[in-house]
Amino acid sequence: MVIQKNVLLKNYSNYKIGGLAAYFLEVESTEELKEGLKKWNNINSEFKQFFILGGGTNILFGDNGYSGLVIRCEIKGIKLKEERIKVGAGVLMSKLLDFCIENSLSGLEWAGGLPGTVGGSVRGNAGAFGGETKDCIAEVKSLNIDSLEEITRNNQECWFSYRDSYFKTDKGSREIITEVMLTLKNKDKEEIKKIIEEKINFRIKKHPLEYPNIGSIFKNIEMTKIPDSLKEEFGQNGKTDPIPVIPSARIINLCGLKGKRVGDAQFSEKHPNFIVNLGNAKAGDVKALVEMAKKEVFEKFKIQLEEEIMYVGNF
Ligand SMILES: Cc1cc2nc3c(=O)[nH]c(=O)nc-3n(C[C@H](O)[C@H](O)[C@H](O)COP(=O)(O)OP(=O)(O)OC[C@H]3O[C@@H](n4cnc5c(N)ncnc54)[C@H](O)[C@@H]3O)c2cc1C
Repeated sequence: MVIQKNVLLKNYSNYKIGGLAAYFLEVESTEELKEGLKKWNNINSEFKQFFILGGGTNILFGDNGYSGLVIRCEIKGIKLKEERIKVGAGVLMSKLLDFCIENSLSGLEWAGGLPGTVGGSVRGNAGAFGGETKDCIAEVKSLNIDSLEEITRNNQECWFSYRDSYFKTDKGSREIITEVMLTLKNKDKEEIKKIIEEKINFRIKKHPLEYPNIGSIFKNIEMTKIPDSLKEEFGQNGKTDPIPVIPSARIINLCGLKGKRVGDAQFSEKHPNFIVNLGNAKAGDVKALVEMAKKEVFEKFKIQLEEEIMYVGNF
């Protein structure tokens, strides 16, 4: 376990965008994490901030890198204990779903095709098709980055809500999720597999997965935030996610932005709430499109778009 210097973040981002991380630590166990953090505390650097990286599927790294330590959580391992699963935070959701199929365990089918790691999904309470990560969580283990104390929280203590959890708070952001205990139910293997495959196929059909991307750029717009004069028109295109919302993709499309390009970044032709990297997109190109959409949507509809993605580092 070594703390590397000047590591290219582009190689760890689903977007294939991002400059150099001043320091980079990859850990495969809680013990390695503790050891790495002790080393980090002894490094005399002006860059003392840190960032926890999972699968890099929801992050736009800046072209000018990150002035601090990036900790890549690679804690793996899935263990079955009756109907409970103990899973490392660095396990990919896709691997966890394979395990669920193999062992006839139901509860996570909604996550078919959800990219990223278990840790990232717990922190953001990721969800789709009416399901949310919180629904089958029994306990979450984490390590406090300052005290190196290991903490176990039950579901309620994780403060889960829509795409939110304790781990997004100021205090909670100083904890690295290391291990998660899930409670699932036994069900017919073929039935589980069928539902997961349906979700995967839906995503292949609807999302521009043929290009590097970081999922939906903007949150869908809560119905309560739609101006009264537009409620009737947009109401018919609403969906429940799990609260009533209008898809941002539709609003962006109505502004004529589908297919719009800056450099190698482009509002996807297939799904305009995705900005795809056509090859050599820079973070600045993506940001320019984000600002363009915010401005045009506000001018046309008086609706404020809000990012679902995170910006990390120097732009
Ligand atoms: C094609 C595509 C489709 C998507 N569809 C959906 C969807 O349907 N629903 C949805 O909710 N999201 C969706 N996303 C977004 C993303 O996949 C999820 O949010 C995912 O759970 C992020 O996991 P990650 O491991 O990639 O996290 P990262 O992108 O690496 O990090 C995201 C955040 O989690 C934190 N984090 C990561 N690991 C840990 C850890 N071990 N401990 C503490 N904090 C941690 C990071 O610090 C960061 O703040 C999609 C993304 C893509 C590219």
